[in-house]
Amino acid sequence: MRLTFLGTSAGTPSRLRNVSALALQFDQQSAFWLFDCGEGTQQQFMRSPLRLSQLQFVFISHLHGDHFYGLPGMLASRSLQYGADTPVTVFGPPGLLRFMQTTFEVSGGTAGYPLTIHEVKPGLIYEDERYSVTCLPLIHRITSFGFAVVEKDQPGHFDVETARSLGIPAGPLYGRLKRGETITLPDGRTVNGSELVGPPISGRKVVYCCDTIYCQNSIHLARQADVLVHEATYAGEDLELAVRGGHSTATQAAQVAVQAGVKALVMTHFSPRYEGQGVEGTGMERLQTEARQTFANSYIAHDFWSYDIPRHEA
Ligand SMILES: [Zn+2]
Ligand SMILES: [Zn+2]
Repeated sequence: MRLTFLGTSAGTPSRLRNVSALALQFDQQSAFWLFDCGEGTQQQFMRSPLRLSQLQFVFISHLHGDHFYGLPGMLASRSLQYGADTPVTVFGPPGLLRFMQTTFEVSGGTAGYPLTIHEVKPGLIYEDERYSVTCLPLIHRITSFGFAVVEKDQPGHFDVETARSLGIPAGPLYGRLKRGETITLPDGRTVNGSELVGPPISGRKVVYCCDTIYCQNSIHLARQADVLVHEATYAGEDLELAVRGGHSTATQAAQVAVQAGVKALVMTHFSPRYEGQGVEGTGMERLQTEARQTFANSYIAHDFWSYDIPRHEA
């Protein structure tokens, strides 16, 4: 799994950063998901290796403009792209459906592919054979949801060598053994599949919390995650501004990471006020230094930066 940050600025775009958008790609799968879609996200796609035609789901955290004003334009532009005829589903807070319907109605626009808008309630919002997605309300100035993507555990490795040495012909029997079934060979021997399959490989977990103050639901969602993406709009010295705006400091993001027992913290949604400090945006690095005092494996994201989440070993 790979996260690619398409926008990491809070509130307004800056010289170096666009407003919020984050893509999640999956191993050996071309479709990807998008978390938030600030204005200009469709141009960020053009500057990245991601193709809008392969967009499958969009998750909107909340209805502040820096998180979803890019949505109608991006979805409309996708209609014009060759081969972009696969369905797109957008999940978001109440009000999103009315916004999208009104926008398309007054502009006479439509999507040239099946488009579904789901207004979410806390809890499980999506599940298939490989992944589930849950959301919980965070604490911000308006309703704001955090999302947890959980990959289901995968079957362990199948011991092909041993299967061959037992004289089992490759083909449908391998499939049954991989599922742990006991099979009977033509010569009467029985083989128990579970003895040829290693322990299950635990799935990965990715969590997105933006925008929010430090809150229990972020910790709850992020529990044991491989990576927590959490907003860090402000430095610790600006705690008062953070509280007033319903945002977090880098230290608070790191505290959530510690409380939830995550493996890594990636911070995003930075106030442009820090960008002018230092040389060419290096002022932002102080947020990373600050977070690392609380949680060592902390990173600050920047636009077009990717973070890989490797598979767990069996
Ligand atoms: Zn925001
Ligand atoms: Zn907001």
